[in-house]
Amino acid sequence: MIHLRTPAEMDAIGRGGSIIAGLLEEVRGRIGPGVTTGSLDALCEDYIRAHEGAVPAFQGLYGFPGAVCISVNEEVVHGIPSFRRALKEGDIVSVDVGVRLGGWCSDSAWTFPVGEVPSTTSTLLEVTERALQAAVGAARAGGHVGDIGAAVMSIVDGTGLGIIRDLVGHGVGRDVHEEPQVPNVGRRGQGPQLREGMVLAIEPMLSGGSADIRTLDDGWTVITADRSLSAHFEHTVAITADGPRVLTGSGLPVDAVEGA
Ligand code: MG
Ligand code: MG
Repeated sequence: MIHLRTPAEMDAIGRGGSIIAGLLEEVRGRIGPGVTTGSLDALCEDYIRAHEGAVPAFQGLYGFPGAVCISVNEEVVHGIPSFRRALKEGDIVSVDVGVRLGGWCSDSAWTFPVGEVPSTTSTLLEVTERALQAAVGAARAGGHVGDIGAAVMSIVDGTGLGIIRDLVGHGVGRDVHEEPQVPNVGRRGQGPQLREGMVLAIEPMLSGGSADIRTLDDGWTVITADRSLSAHFEHTVAITADGPRVLTGSGLPVDAVEGA
């Protein structure tokens, strides 16, 4: 079933969400050539646990071994952090963080460049972030889940980038993954109706080439089938009478967010 949350419950989800927002800014400042994904994972776990009652929501979820998911270059999602994996100049790195606090979950991801990256790589990051902003802007009561995927498509169409269709966003609340599924492709007016009180993790994932994916032998790491670069931007968003409210962002209404 799709849960509807009260404004107080949205606030509770947003308390964990603001920890993630602060953490991703911390991570942005730490990323550089030579930094290992294992050290970033340790930073994330320490940062989250420094907030009383907060724990990394992905740690142990379905058996995941890290505190957060860190996916480099062609890795789309669910990369396992490692002290043997050092970032290099020109890489991109996606950091996907879940926090559980007071019995509520929040979920957000960002993809960062490592040092200087080629312009095609910058474009991939910019388009994916814009796709997230458009998708968040489509999360309005009275609309439909398909409006969100349609918004992603409207940004990506004509760019030559691929939308990864086999992975989707989701409801988030008491559990990290709740109903409904939130695909990154869709048609306006299709799918479950969006209602005030729904809280969704909206998370476009794009590739510079093929949108096909496969999972590595570690059982976790999802990569693009053609090993093209992949970017992932995600916010936890509440649907309110006043429009979409980003619970893992700066706290500004979405209309005040540049580019939304
Ligand atoms: Mg996530
Ligand atoms: Mg998610």
